[in-house]
Amino acid sequence: MTILELIPNLYCLSLPTPFPCGPINVYLAAGAGPLTLVDTGPLTSWTWAALEHALAEHGTTVADIQRVIVTHAHIDHFGLAARIARTAKGGGAEVFALNSSRPRLEAHVTEWQQRADFYGATLRRGGVPAEMAEGTVGLAVGDLARYAEAVPAVTPLVDGEGLRLAGRDWLVLHTPGHAIGHMCLYQPEARLLLSGDHLIQHISSNPVIDLPAPGETERPRSLVLYLQSLRRVADLDVSVALPGHGEPITDHRALIAQRFQHHEARMDRMLTAMDSRSCTAYEITQAMFPNPSPLDVFLGLSEVIGHLDILVDRGLVVEEDEDNLTRYRRA
Ligand SMILES: [Zn+2]
Repeated sequence: MTILELIPNLYCLSLPTPFPCGPINVYLAAGAGPLTLVDTGPLTSWTWAALEHALAEHGTTVADIQRVIVTHAHIDHFGLAARIARTAKGGGAEVFALNSSRPRLEAHVTEWQQRADFYGATLRRGGVPAEMAEGTVGLAVGDLARYAEAVPAVTPLVDGEGLRLAGRDWLVLHTPGHAIGHMCLYQPEARLLLSGDHLIQHISSNPVIDLPAPGETERPRSLVLYLQSLRRVADLDVSVALPGHGEPITDHRALIAQRFQHHEARMDRMLTAMDSRSCTAYEITQAMFPNPSPLDVFLGLSEVIGHLDILVDRGLVVEEDEDNLTRYRRA
């Protein structure tokens, strides 16, 4: 949890989480302008204690934070936002997030229930036996809601908007995929990218199944969006990408190329596993990830559905709906 200074007035704080992704990097921006935290860590007493400790090393406290920027509406990134906002002196800290993340942050509990219901339905439609779908959603999703609380008021940001951070001008970039409302922050002169969970060196970001956007009925095609966002970020001139987990990334284009290769290799393996059979997403998931934990069933299915979306797009796989079950076969 030591503080690392990246450029003048920008610090990385590593905070513990109880999740398989390991510690989270949150970024403290000091200097002229509001004292800002980018992402927060989940709502646990020990993450809070680690945050207080890390801020004390910098000679500051949670009460001094004036602004919280949330890269995306996942609990490890915004769990403590409401508590920080409440604790900040002078009427509290302002919380910013991309417009599309806003309903998820403001209505966390209701949204989480909707999410659990939607995931349950998606798992069943993907061929996961009903009892297991219920168990997976209960264990992998339901139990996690307590690691965050709703943020009463979120100030919305939009793609392309400018933000002043650590004495420099940053650009808000909407990078949907890992989450529908995911954003990165880009600083062109220092060629820095706060990449959230869009780019992580040691983990291939999961294209997590997401709820349909408000007013829509179709789920977003997370992996299709994710690969588009990767292409957008590959076009940026970046010397270092600062991720939400793990080490700084010094060659973002090489990492993005690896991610494309990884997904192509996965899709090849899936086509082989499908052979000439008609299968459900769950049958393919079982072939790809033997003996999965409940969380693995969920994340594995997220990936497989993501890859199937692309294969359907390319005309290599045909999707057929029958009685609340989706089957896939090679074209
Ligand atoms: Zn994360």
